[in-house]
Amino acid sequence: MYKTQKENKIFINNFKYCKGCSLCVEICPKKCLALKDNNRGVYGNDTVECNIDLCIQCKACERICPDGAIKIGG
Ligand code: SF4
Ligand code: SF4
Repeated sequence: MYKTQKENKIFINNFKYCKGCSLCVEICPKKCLALKDNNRGVYGNDTVECNIDLCIQCKACERICPDGAIKIGG
């Protein structure tokens, strides 16, 4: 589980479900998501991490992820 938080903002990627498809990266209006090599996903792929400073908790990433990997907020 990758988790980053600041004040009342929380981004979680349950990266064992992340397949590195980049749909969340593309839809994020703040461009604060990126694939990183710190954790391996379903196919041994890079997985998504968040620059929480820029995140506005809009949940667009959570909604678009086909694999339910992302959770926004507490
Ligand atoms: S909640 Fe919104 S701003 Fe934050 S990472 Fe997801 S799409 Fe980007
Ligand atoms: S949409 Fe889901 S599966 Fe695709 S890169 Fe983002 S977190 Fe991973």
